[in-house]
Amino acid sequence: YAKQLGGDRIETFRPALRTDASDVFQLENDLRRALEREEMQVHYQPIVRLDTREIVGFEALLRWDHPKRGRVSPADFVPAAERSDQIVQLGLFVLERAARQLSQWHQSLPKSDHLFVSVNVSSRQLLRHDLLNDVKAVLSRNSLPKGALKLEMTESLLMENPEFAAQILHRLRELGASISLDDFGTGYSSLSYLQRLPIDTLKIDQSFVRSGNSPTQFVILRSIMGLAHDLGLETVAEGAETEADAEMLDELGCDLGQGYLFGAPMSADEIRKLMDRQNGEKTKA
Ligand code: C2E
Ligand code: MG
Ligand code: MG
Ligand code: MG
Repeated sequence: YAKQLGGDRIETFRPALRTDASDVFQLENDLRRALEREEMQVHYQPIVRLDTREIVGFEALLRWDHPKRGRVSPADFVPAAERSDQIVQLGLFVLERAARQLSQWHQSLPKSDHLFVSVNVSSRQLLRHDLLNDVKAVLSRNSLPKGALKLEMTESLLMENPEFAAQILHRLRELGASISLDDFGTGYSSLSYLQRLPIDTLKIDQSFVRSGNSPTQFVILRSIMGLAHDLGLETVAEGAETEADAEMLDELGCDLGQGYLFGAPMSADEIRKLMDRQNGEKTKA
């Protein structure tokens, strides 16, 4: 099914990266020119409502088509980009692209006002750059409604400086962005901070979701879901790969799902086709 939806699954054909120092250096050098050489793209992965399977939004994910290495996984270049501060520029690129793309979908797709896009934010962006101004500019330039832009941040990022993070998050929300806690469950989940940080959504890490999980993982999932709902947080499960995953998540009361079952990350053109197909089915029904 996912294949039929197109998209990419880069880990399956990801080139082996040598790890000697000169190679890392070369990668960081190449990274510096990647934007101006237009080697970076933003792909989008569908996020669905688990009860109706309707697409309600997308996660924006960076893709780097390196002239020699082919497609390099963000798992390999994002850490390098964070070390060298390149992530600030890359992050702004993704934010601008994704906002413009969403605004275009809002204008051209039927009944699409509710669609959102979710953009990953790294700690350098939050702590050292003027994220507030960027977000404000991007939202107004593309006249995106409240809630249309979600910002994904990890727990470890927010825990570096919870008081400062809380202030920024409050202001981001005042601007109309909403906040998702990414990879939830993998860091030090300091549950008391969860209550104090202005967060809208928990994105449950795929390690708790993907099929083949133990009964313990099921118990963990169930309690995360209970916690989230008691705190009034929306839940998104990452890594739903099978029908069984999706059914279990729905039964546990998880709101949204993301994973190869519903579609891999894909280009904006492929998303467009997917949405046309979904809207066609709705009209027929
Ligand atoms: P993430 O934010 O947790 O993104 C979800 C990752 O899970 C994506 O990997 C996605 O392709 C993958 N995924 C989605 N569904 C499934 C599934 O059903 N099964 C499996 N096995 N994997 C699934 P991707 O695109 O390789 O990105 C990896 C990480 O790189 C992201 O994790 C995020 O931390 C980082 N990243 C990607 N784009 C950006 C960006 O624009 N900015 C920043 N700061 N980080 C980014
Ligand atoms: Mg993410
Ligand atoms: Mg994640
Ligand atoms: Mg992840």
